[in-house]
Amino acid sequence: MKEFELIKHFFTDQIVKRKDVLKGIGDDCAIINIPAQQNIVVTTDTLVSGVHFPHDTHPNAIGHKAIAVNLSDIAAMGAEPCWLSLAITLPEVDKGWLQSFCDGVFELCEYYNVELIGGDTTQGPLSITVTAQGMIPEGKSLLRSGAQSGDWIYVTGEIGDAALALKHFYNQVSLSQEYVKPLREKLDRPKARVLAGQAIRDYASSAIDLSDGLVSDLNHICQASNVGANIVLDQLPLSKMMLNSLTFDEATSLALVGGDDYELLFTVSEDNKVGMETALANIGTKITCIGQTNKSKILSTTINNEVVPIQAKSFEHFNDK
Ligand code: ADP
Ligand code: MG
Repeated sequence: MKEFELIKHFFTDQIVKRKDVLKGIGDDCAIINIPAQQNIVVTTDTLVSGVHFPHDTHPNAIGHKAIAVNLSDIAAMGAEPCWLSLAITLPEVDKGWLQSFCDGVFELCEYYNVELIGGDTTQGPLSITVTAQGMIPEGKSLLRSGAQSGDWIYVTGEIGDAALALKHFYNQVSLSQEYVKPLREKLDRPKARVLAGQAIRDYASSAIDLSDGLVSDLNHICQASNVGANIVLDQLPLSKMMLNSLTFDEATSLALVGGDDYELLFTVSEDNKVGMETALANIGTKITCIGQTNKSKILSTTINNEVVPIQAKSFEHFNDK
């Protein structure tokens, strides 16, 4: 199968056709009609085999994850995802693999009414780069820099499960058999908090999605907003699987530094707390208040009423070894 045949067969025909896409796949560029008084948010994420997903990951999950991690960034801005481009490098043309990958991609596209409007297809070691674009009313984007000292810190869902799955993949932990599959699902098929992101945009002072780990991502908010933060360890939302597989200390440490959860971390002022909680209750998103920002310029945790500065380091590419 040649490049153009492949593009036509796997990427051109799709169910999602948005009215604002004047030209989709098939020309040198896509053309989009942007409504007045909207800002466009743009993000790109690359997934490399063996770095961002284990080599044995199912192609359907790779497709899902490539889209979900980008939608998660759009969600963290409070925006509505609209359009995607997909640059894919494939070692070979394996039709079964590609079909399964595309099913993973288009399932999320259909769910969120996002249209694939272009991309690039090349041969080489497996790597997938997605650019996602979204819309948001002018000036409404949630930035990392908006937190004020005294804001409450919230997180959606539960954290640490993806890191626990990865630990299991590397044989660093033994799990009860019933947890193996659901934990791997958390790693392979993260849920982008698209609706939650839009629901908090009128209330939150700052937001970020949890890709690198709680400490690392909270630190991004603190640096950008020029505040410190304290996390109350026994308030971290940990799944039953985490609590039953690890000691409390191990579970909280993993939840602090483990990446790949793609939950939203956000801050909200005392005045906006009730409005935000109501907005999220209306869409059925679980949230937990895990701490508060402060004037200190450092990150700390509280356990048994004792405040301890955080030293833990999350995963970073190219970190000093
Ligand atoms: P060009 O050479 O002008 O950059 P290409 O020949 O690479 O264009 O691609 C032809 C068309 O197919 C373009 O509209 C491009 O955006 C689209 N396309 C190529 N690869 C993909 C892909 N993996 N997913 C979606 N669209 C793709
Ligand atoms: Mg061209």
